[in-house]
Amino acid sequence: MLDLHVHLIGHQDRQADETAVRGFLQAAIEKGLVEIGFADHDLYFGELDLPLLREVGKSYPGLKVRVGLEVDYRPGEEEKIQGVLERFPFDYVIGSVHEIEGWAFDSPGEEARHRAQDPDALYERYFSLVEKAARSGLFTTLGHLDLIKIYGVRPRKDILKLVDRALTAVKDLGLAIEINTNGRYKPVGEFYPEPKLLQEVVHRGISVTLGSDAHEAKVVGRDLGEAMAFLHHLGAKKVVGFQGREPIAYSLM
Ligand SMILES: [Zn+2]
Ligand SMILES: [Zn+2]
Repeated sequence: MLDLHVHLIGHQDRQADETAVRGFLQAAIEKGLVEIGFADHDLYFGELDLPLLREVGKSYPGLKVRVGLEVDYRPGEEEKIQGVLERFPFDYVIGSVHEIEGWAFDSPGEEARHRAQDPDALYERYFSLVEKAARSGLFTTLGHLDLIKIYGVRPRKDILKLVDRALTAVKDLGLAIEINTNGRYKPVGEFYPEPKLLQEVVHRGISVTLGSDAHEAKVVGRDLGEAMAFLHHLGAKKVVGFQGREPIAYSLM
């Protein structure tokens, strides 16, 4: 089992020091993980000690410790993002859409604004940004594919039609999609992506990776066994981790 969506400093909740790193790695071992990846928000890039992650990781020989980054994707910022990604040899990079034209739609207290909009238009705007993120070529992975459902607002149109172009881009560019189990603890109360979307991802032969989106050590690995079992049930044969921006497959057999 692997968990490639772990936030060490979260939202500046703690110092990214050796004690914090060891706390997360110990939690990973207790959960039986074989691979853990730190992917803090790019907003905190200047506060991260990324070489420290590799250094501390060496004292856990049974655990592969990967260094990633979760990047807030905003169209027009591709060059700025590229500049950040050149500053460290990341194992993987998660591209995430958390904003629509400056609106941080997944923030607490935003439900009313979700409900005030035409749901189909909302989903169309969101997925067009996801498609741009995929086409940017900056990322190995797309974060929480259907984050726009966070407050439980669902489209009237078929979700598979709405997501079609974004998934085509994901497949064309060879990105992975994550099962992000954290959605279960948000108002929507289910993993990202929803089962029907995940089934389509598997059907299209898109690689799948796993992430808890833990912002504290005790959440590392949460519900990922269940996510893997569901993936297997859908007919997927493998999940992927990453090293040096290349996927490494693990059999689900
Ligand atoms: Zn995110
Ligand atoms: Zn995250």
